[in-house]
Amino acid sequence: MPTPKSNRTPVGSVQCENTTLNLLKANDFVAKVIRERLPEMLVINICSSPGSGKTALMQETGKLLKGKLNMAVLVGDPETERDAIRMKESGINALQIVTGGMCHIEAQMILQALDHINLDGVDVLFIENVGNLVCPAAFDLGEDYRVTVISCTEGDDKPKKYPRMFLTSELMLISKSDLLPYLPFSVDAVILDARDINPDLEVITLSSLNGDGLDQWGEWLMKKSEEKKSREKKSGEKNANLVMNDVGIGR
Ligand code: MG
Ligand code: ZN
Repeated sequence: MPTPKSNRTPVGSVQCENTTLNLLKANDFVAKVIRERLPEMLVINICSSPGSGKTALMQETGKLLKGKLNMAVLVGDPETERDAIRMKESGINALQIVTGGMCHIEAQMILQALDHINLDGVDVLFIENVGNLVCPAAFDLGEDYRVTVISCTEGDDKPKKYPRMFLTSELMLISKSDLLPYLPFSVDAVILDARDINPDLEVITLSSLNGDGLDQWGEWLMKKSEEKKSREKKSGEKNANLVMNDVGIGR
Protein backbone atom coordinates (compact mmCIF):
# COMPACT_ATOMS: atom_id res chain seq x y z
CA MET A 1 0.00 0.00 0.00
CA PRO A 2 1.44 3.41 -0.89
CA THR A 3 2.27 5.80 1.95
CA PRO A 4 -0.57 8.31 2.47
CA LYS A 5 0.40 11.70 1.11
CA SER A 6 0.30 13.38 4.51
CA ASN A 7 2.90 10.90 5.78
CA ARG A 8 5.48 11.51 3.05
CA THR A 9 8.79 12.82 4.34
CA PRO A 10 11.61 14.57 2.49
CA VAL A 11 14.52 12.36 1.44
CA GLY A 12 17.08 12.11 4.23
CA SER A 13 14.69 13.26 6.94
CA VAL A 14 13.46 11.47 10.03
CA GLN A 15 9.85 11.40 11.14
CA CYS A 16 9.86 11.77 14.94
CA GLU A 17 7.28 9.96 17.01
CA ASN A 18 5.11 12.59 18.63
CA THR A 19 1.63 13.09 19.99
CA THR A 20 0.26 14.49 16.74
CA LEU A 21 1.01 11.19 14.99
CA ASN A 22 -2.05 9.36 16.34
CA LEU A 23 -4.19 12.35 15.49
CA LEU A 24 -2.87 12.23 11.92
CA LYS A 25 -3.65 8.51 11.63
CA ALA A 26 -7.26 9.25 12.63
CA ASN A 27 -7.30 12.07 10.09
CA ASP A 28 -6.09 9.73 7.32
CA PHE A 29 -8.94 7.35 8.14
CA VAL A 30 -11.53 10.12 7.73
CA ALA A 31 -9.82 11.28 4.52
CA LYS A 32 -10.32 7.77 3.13
CA VAL A 33 -14.04 7.96 3.95
CA ILE A 34 -14.26 11.27 2.05
CA ARG A 35 -12.54 9.72 -1.02
CA GLU A 36 -15.02 6.84 -0.98
CA ARG A 37 -17.95 9.28 -0.78
CA LEU A 38 -16.82 11.32 -3.77
CA PRO A 39 -15.75 8.73 -6.37
CA GLU A 40 -16.30 10.90 -9.46
CA MET A 41 -15.91 14.44 -8.11
CA LEU A 42 -12.51 16.07 -8.50
CA VAL A 43 -11.40 17.36 -5.08
CA ILE A 44 -8.69 20.02 -4.94
CA ASN A 45 -7.08 21.21 -1.71
CA ILE A 46 -5.77 24.76 -2.20
CA CYS A 47 -3.05 25.77 0.25
CA SER A 48 -0.95 28.92 0.65
CA SER A 49 0.07 31.70 3.03
CA PRO A 50 -2.61 34.27 3.92
CA GLY A 51 -3.08 36.86 1.20
CA SER A 52 -1.72 34.88 -1.76
CA GLY A 53 -4.97 35.37 -3.68
CA LYS A 54 -6.76 32.04 -3.12
CA THR A 55 -10.24 33.56 -2.89
CA ALA A 56 -9.67 35.86 -5.88
CA LEU A 57 -8.48 32.80 -7.83
CA MET A 58 -11.66 30.93 -6.86
CA GLN A 59 -13.76 33.85 -8.10
CA GLU A 60 -11.91 33.89 -11.45
CA THR A 61 -12.05 30.07 -11.66
CA GLY A 62 -15.84 30.33 -11.37
CA LYS A 63 -15.93 32.53 -14.50
CA LEU A 64 -13.39 30.31 -16.28
CA LEU A 65 -15.31 27.05 -15.75
CA LYS A 66 -18.78 28.45 -16.44
CA GLY A 67 -20.63 26.13 -18.82
CA LYS A 68 -17.78 23.57 -18.66
CA LEU A 69 -17.55 22.25 -15.11
CA ASN A 70 -19.78 22.84 -12.08
CA MET A 71 -17.74 23.88 -9.06
CA ALA A 72 -18.29 24.30 -5.35
CA VAL A 73 -15.96 25.67 -2.68
CA LEU A 74 -15.50 24.84 0.98
CA VAL A 75 -13.50 27.70 2.42
CA GLY A 76 -11.74 27.57 5.76
CA ASP A 77 -10.79 30.56 7.87
CA PRO A 78 -10.07 30.90 11.60
CA GLU A 79 -12.89 33.48 11.90
CA THR A 80 -15.53 35.27 9.75
CA GLU A 81 -17.59 34.19 6.76
CA ARG A 82 -16.15 36.89 4.54
CA ASP A 83 -14.62 34.64 1.89
CA ALA A 84 -17.76 32.53 1.40
CA ILE A 85 -19.78 35.75 1.11
CA ARG A 86 -17.32 37.09 -1.51
CA MET A 87 -17.64 33.88 -3.52
CA LYS A 88 -21.43 33.68 -3.25
CA GLU A 89 -21.58 37.25 -4.54
CA SER A 90 -19.68 35.98 -7.61
CA GLY A 91 -22.32 33.27 -8.07
CA ILE A 92 -20.21 30.43 -6.69
CA ASN A 93 -21.70 27.65 -4.57
CA ALA A 94 -19.63 28.16 -1.40
CA LEU A 95 -19.74 27.19 2.25
CA GLN A 96 -17.59 28.71 4.98
CA ILE A 97 -15.88 26.46 7.48
CA VAL A 98 -15.06 28.58 10.51
CA THR A 99 -12.31 26.66 12.27
CA GLY A 100 -12.71 28.57 15.56
CA GLY A 101 -9.18 29.91 15.61
CA MET A 102 -7.59 26.72 14.31
CA CYS A 103 -4.82 27.26 11.78
CA HIS A 104 -5.70 24.39 9.40
CA ILE A 105 -8.64 22.29 8.18
CA GLU A 106 -8.93 18.67 9.31
CA ALA A 107 -10.67 15.88 7.38
CA GLN A 108 -13.50 15.60 9.92
CA MET A 109 -14.41 19.27 9.24
CA ILE A 110 -14.75 18.45 5.53
CA LEU A 111 -16.82 15.34 6.27
CA GLN A 112 -19.21 17.43 8.39
CA ALA A 113 -19.36 20.19 5.76
CA LEU A 114 -20.36 17.70 3.02
CA ASP A 115 -23.77 17.39 4.70
CA HIS A 116 -24.33 21.15 4.54
CA ILE A 117 -23.57 21.92 0.91
CA ASN A 118 -25.54 20.89 -2.17
CA LEU A 119 -23.15 18.89 -4.34
CA ASP A 120 -25.70 17.68 -6.92
CA GLY A 121 -24.08 17.89 -10.34
CA VAL A 122 -20.82 19.31 -8.96
CA ASP A 123 -17.75 18.21 -10.95
CA VAL A 124 -15.03 19.96 -8.94
CA LEU A 125 -14.96 20.60 -5.22
CA PHE A 126 -12.32 23.07 -4.09
CA ILE A 127 -11.21 23.25 -0.50
CA GLU A 128 -9.68 26.66 0.18
CA ASN A 129 -7.53 25.84 3.18
CA VAL A 130 -6.66 28.23 6.00
CA GLY A 131 -3.80 30.52 4.95
CA ASN A 132 -0.78 28.75 6.42
CA LEU A 133 2.11 26.87 4.80
CA VAL A 134 2.94 24.77 7.86
CA CYS A 135 0.36 22.41 9.40
CA PRO A 136 -2.14 22.14 6.49
CA ALA A 137 0.61 20.09 4.80
CA ALA A 138 0.15 17.35 7.40
CA PHE A 139 -3.62 16.90 6.98
CA ASP A 140 -4.97 14.82 4.11
CA LEU A 141 -8.48 16.11 3.38
CA GLY A 142 -9.45 13.35 0.97
CA GLU A 143 -8.35 15.48 -1.98
CA ASP A 144 -7.20 14.18 -5.34
CA TYR A 145 -4.68 16.97 -5.78
CA ARG A 146 -3.05 19.47 -3.51
CA VAL A 147 -2.35 22.81 -5.14
CA THR A 148 -0.07 25.31 -3.44
CA VAL A 149 -0.35 28.96 -4.37
CA ILE A 150 2.72 31.14 -3.90
CA SER A 151 2.33 34.81 -4.74
CA CYS A 152 5.28 36.72 -6.06
CA THR A 153 4.77 39.35 -3.32
CA GLU A 154 5.81 36.74 -0.71
CA GLY A 155 9.37 36.25 -1.90
CA ASP A 156 10.88 33.33 -3.79
CA ASP A 157 12.42 31.67 -0.73
CA LYS A 158 9.28 29.87 0.47
CA PRO A 159 9.73 26.32 -0.93
CA LYS A 160 12.94 25.67 1.02
CA LYS A 161 11.44 27.17 4.20
CA TYR A 162 8.22 25.17 4.01
CA PRO A 163 9.34 22.02 2.16
CA ARG A 164 6.58 19.71 3.34
CA MET A 165 3.88 21.76 1.65
CA PHE A 166 5.70 21.68 -1.68
CA LEU A 167 6.59 18.01 -1.28
CA THR A 168 2.95 17.02 -0.77
CA SER A 169 1.58 19.16 -3.63
CA GLU A 170 1.07 18.14 -7.24
CA LEU A 171 0.81 21.66 -8.63
CA MET A 172 2.33 25.01 -7.68
CA LEU A 173 0.56 28.15 -8.85
CA ILE A 174 2.72 31.27 -8.91
CA SER A 175 0.11 34.01 -8.48
CA LYS A 176 -0.07 37.79 -8.98
CA SER A 177 2.19 37.54 -12.05
CA ASP A 178 0.99 41.03 -13.08
CA LEU A 179 3.26 42.36 -10.30
CA LEU A 180 6.40 40.51 -11.46
CA PRO A 181 7.92 43.56 -13.23
CA TYR A 182 7.93 45.47 -9.93
CA LEU A 183 9.29 42.80 -7.59
CA PRO A 184 12.65 41.12 -6.97
CA PHE A 185 11.00 37.70 -7.37
CA SER A 186 12.62 35.08 -9.59
CA VAL A 187 10.17 32.60 -11.12
CA ASP A 188 13.10 30.43 -12.21
CA ALA A 189 14.58 30.36 -8.69
CA VAL A 190 11.31 29.43 -7.03
CA ILE A 191 10.69 26.62 -9.54
CA LEU A 192 14.25 25.34 -9.12
CA ASP A 193 13.90 25.25 -5.31
CA ALA A 194 10.44 23.70 -5.38
CA ARG A 195 11.50 20.95 -7.84
CA ASP A 196 14.59 20.27 -5.77
CA ILE A 197 12.12 19.20 -3.04
CA ASN A 198 9.54 17.64 -5.37
CA PRO A 199 10.80 16.86 -8.90
CA ASP A 200 7.28 15.95 -10.10
CA LEU A 201 5.74 19.30 -9.15
CA GLU A 202 3.82 20.94 -12.00
CA VAL A 203 3.91 24.74 -12.24
CA ILE A 204 1.58 27.37 -13.68
CA THR A 205 2.25 31.11 -13.42
CA LEU A 206 -0.94 33.17 -13.40
CA SER A 207 -2.71 36.39 -12.48
CA SER A 208 -6.33 36.63 -11.34
CA LEU A 209 -6.14 40.35 -12.08
CA ASN A 210 -5.11 40.38 -15.76
CA GLY A 211 -5.98 36.77 -16.62
CA ASP A 212 -2.46 35.58 -17.52
CA GLY A 213 -2.14 31.80 -17.26
CA LEU A 214 -5.79 31.25 -16.30
CA ASP A 215 -6.50 29.26 -19.48
CA GLN A 216 -3.70 26.86 -18.57
CA TRP A 217 -5.18 26.46 -15.07
CA GLY A 218 -8.62 25.82 -16.56
CA GLU A 219 -7.22 23.19 -18.93
CA TRP A 220 -5.41 21.48 -16.04
CA LEU A 221 -8.70 21.26 -14.10
CA MET A 222 -10.64 19.95 -17.12
CA LYS A 223 -8.02 17.27 -17.77
CA LYS A 224 -7.91 16.12 -14.15
CA SER A 225 -11.71 16.03 -13.93
CA GLU A 226 -11.98 13.92 -17.11
CA GLU A 227 -9.25 11.58 -15.85
CA LYS A 228 -11.04 11.02 -12.55
CA LYS A 229 -14.40 10.38 -14.19
CA SER A 230 -12.95 7.91 -16.69
CA ARG A 231 -11.02 6.15 -13.92
CA GLU A 232 -14.25 5.70 -11.96
CA LYS A 233 -16.08 4.50 -15.07
CA LYS A 234 -13.37 1.90 -15.77
CA SER A 235 -13.34 0.64 -12.19
CA GLY A 236 -17.15 0.49 -12.29
CA GLU A 237 -17.01 -1.63 -15.45
CA LYS A 238 -14.34 -3.83 -13.89
CA ASN A 239 -16.49 -4.37 -10.79
CA ALA A 240 -19.53 -5.16 -12.95
CA ASN A 241 -17.46 -7.77 -14.85
CA LEU A 242 -16.32 -9.31 -11.57
CA VAL A 243 -19.94 -9.58 -10.40
CA MET A 244 -20.92 -11.18 -13.71
CA ASN A 245 -18.06 -13.68 -13.41
CA ASP A 246 -19.14 -14.46 -9.85
CA VAL A 247 -22.61 -15.46 -10.95
CA GLY A 248 -21.30 -17.20 -14.05
CA ILE A 249 -22.72 -14.75 -16.58
CA GLY A 250 -20.84 -14.39 -19.83
CA ARG A 251 -18.90 -17.66 -19.54
MG1 MG B 1 -9.34 33.42 1.32
ZN1 ZN C 1 -2.69 24.20 12.20
